[in-house]
Amino acid sequence: MTWRADVLTIFPSMFPGPLGDSLAGKAMEAGTWALQVTDIRDFGLGRHRSVDDTPFGGGAGMVMRPDVLDAAISSVADERPLIVLTPRGAPLTQKRVQQLAQGPGAILLCGRFEGIDQRVIEARQAEEISIGDYVLSGGEIAALVLLDAAIRLLPGVMGAADSAVEESFSSPLLEYPHYTRPAVWADRAVPETLTSGNHAAIAAWRLDAARQTTKIRRPDLYNQYIASGAQAP
Ligand code: SAM
Repeated sequence: MTWRADVLTIFPSMFPGPLGDSLAGKAMEAGTWALQVTDIRDFGLGRHRSVDDTPFGGGAGMVMRPDVLDAAISSVADERPLIVLTPRGAPLTQKRVQQLAQGPGAILLCGRFEGIDQRVIEARQAEEISIGDYVLSGGEIAALVLLDAAIRLLPGVMGAADSAVEESFSSPLLEYPHYTRPAVWADRAVPETLTSGNHAAIAAWRLDAARQTTKIRRPDLYNQYIASGAQAP
C-alpha cells in the first residue's frame, strides 16, 4: 500500500525538493509513497488571498489564521496523523519516525511568520513536532526532514534490508565510526581489528566504539543505555 504524505504550505514549489532525488525519488516513482502538496493560499481571504493577521496582544510579526488553515486541513484530512511543525513541539525521534513509517502516512502543516493560531492546532488535535532546538524561517524544511526520515524506512526503500537495524538511534547508542579503502590514508591506518576478519572481535570493537562515542557526545543517551540494563564498559 502506498504511504501517503500531504503537505500544507504557502510555498508549494519547495516540494518535493530533495525528496524527488535519490532513494526517496526512486521510491516515489515506484509508488511506495506519494506526495500531495496543497497551497494554503488557495484558501486565503480576499483579493490578496491573505493567510495571516496581526497577533492579539501585540508584538512583532504575523500569525497564520485558524479559519484559513482549518479550511486547508479539511481539504485533505482523513485518518492519517496531522502534524504541525513548530519549535514548540515535542522533539522528533527515531521512534516516532518508525511509528509514522508503519502507518498510512501523514499530513504536515508548515508554519510561517511568527507561527500558527493555537486554536486550530487544538481543535484539530494536531501533534506538534520540532526538529531541533533552533528556529527555521518556515516549517517546509522541517517537513522535508520528517518525510525523509520516514520514507527511507518504508519497505523496499533502503538497499540492504538490515541497514536500519544498527544505525544511530535504533538503540540508545550512536553508531560506531565507519572506514573503507584505502587501509592506510594520509598516514592514518584503519583500526586493526576491522581488517582482522575476526567477526566476534569486530562486533566487540564496534560496540565499544559506539559506547565510548555515546558516553562522550550524548551522556543523555548513554544514561538511557545504562538504565536499560546494559553493562558500563
Ligand atoms: N515565533 C516562533 C517561535 O519562536 O517559536 C518561530 C516561528 S518560525 C520563524 C516560523 C515557522 O517555522 C514555525 O511556525 C514552524 O512551522 C517552523 N519552524 C521553525 N523552527 C522549527 C523547528 N525547530 N522545528 C519545526 N518547525 C520549525
